[in-house]
Amino acid sequence: MLGGQIIIHVDMDAFYASVEMRDDKTLIDKPLIIGSMPNERGVVSTCNYEARKYGIRSGMNIKEAFKRCPKGVFMHPNFDKYIKVSNQLHEILESYTDRAEYIALDEGYIDLTGKVNSWEQARKIGHEIKKRVREELSLTCSVGLAYSKTAAKTASEEKKPDGYFEIPSREDFVTLVLDRNVKSLYTVGEKTAKKLHLYGIDTVRDLQNKSNEVKIFMGKQGEYLVDLAFGFDDRKVTPYREEDTKSISKEFTFQKDVSSFKLLDDVLFILSFRVAGRAKRLGLYGEGVSLKITYSNMKSITRSMIISESTNDAYTIYENASKLLKNVSKGEVRLVGTGLYHLREEDGRQLSFADIFSTQKDMIKEKIQSKWQKMSMYYKIDFDEIKDMQNSIKVYDYIEQMREVMVSMQKYNS
Ligand SMILES: [Mg+2]
Repeated sequence: MLGGQIIIHVDMDAFYASVEMRDDKTLIDKPLIIGSMPNERGVVSTCNYEARKYGIRSGMNIKEAFKRCPKGVFMHPNFDKYIKVSNQLHEILESYTDRAEYIALDEGYIDLTGKVNSWEQARKIGHEIKKRVREELSLTCSVGLAYSKTAAKTASEEKKPDGYFEIPSREDFVTLVLDRNVKSLYTVGEKTAKKLHLYGIDTVRDLQNKSNEVKIFMGKQGEYLVDLAFGFDDRKVTPYREEDTKSISKEFTFQKDVSSFKLLDDVLFILSFRVAGRAKRLGLYGEGVSLKITYSNMKSITRSMIISESTNDAYTIYENASKLLKNVSKGEVRLVGTGLYHLREEDGRQLSFADIFSTQKDMIKEKIQSKWQKMSMYYKIDFDEIKDMQNSIKVYDYIEQMREVMVSMQKYNS
């Protein structure tokens, strides 16, 4: 057993839908589809098991879902509520170990290696988690206990819903998945599966048999895939720790202090694109947005807020930074900045509102366009040249120009 890890993966069953059914009993025996409304463009985020009987699945176009089940109950997600429940789940998991890693609102690993003396003890904890989730949250979850992260995740999928399953060893894992599609090695996505298919590889067994070719053609990724196919996975459960929070922020110091909060708001709009651009290049999503202000007396303040879904979208960053700005005291300001923190990689991210509703995406695009337009009219500046935000010197040049325009307007008005 490589590394000899003891890992539990917990996954809530049909999470969003289950929370809604818990809070409104009349929904229980109806097909419930959480996502966009049938008259909107978008997809299914989660549906209950009743809806799955109609062949409805997460990610399915909402129109298709409606066609399959016009009598279903369609609902928008209520992220604030799900986040609360998610925090309660985290409390339960962290009562067993501080080594917990969450990969989605409703899903996480705990590492019991060294915490328990026997497999039997880990099994007890696995069952206890299920019991506590049932009693304390009035929800069900599926639990997988295994020797590695991949195997634990596979195990929790195995008996869904309200399932419990164990994969104690590498051999057990390989026996279980050998004749399944490569996608059952859950780190293999649609894209990789297609690539493998081109090499004539569809099942885990194929992957084992052609391991040399895969390593040659796919390099590092190939090596990793072959390891998985043989059940080798020594990735550690990596808890989120305050001290290793990475953050991405951009700030701007004015040549001369400014007092116009409208100007600060517009500068935040520009800086948000810089932050978003950097996050996108790094493939990171932030769970929180921050605002930094330094006043003319050198006093600095930072304000931050957790947002309901992780993002690297410029407009979302701006909207939240702008909200934060409205609540700080007015005064002469020398520096303004905004950032994203609690960064995560894309892996395991829940679908966001914008992902679910393409109308939402269009709306955001429109909002961005109209904001640029308004700013162009206000400052009499053509921002087209800096819209890609690549050239930071140029961007900062424009901000200085905006400041000068603002100052001259203030003079004119007084
Ligand atoms: Mg789930």
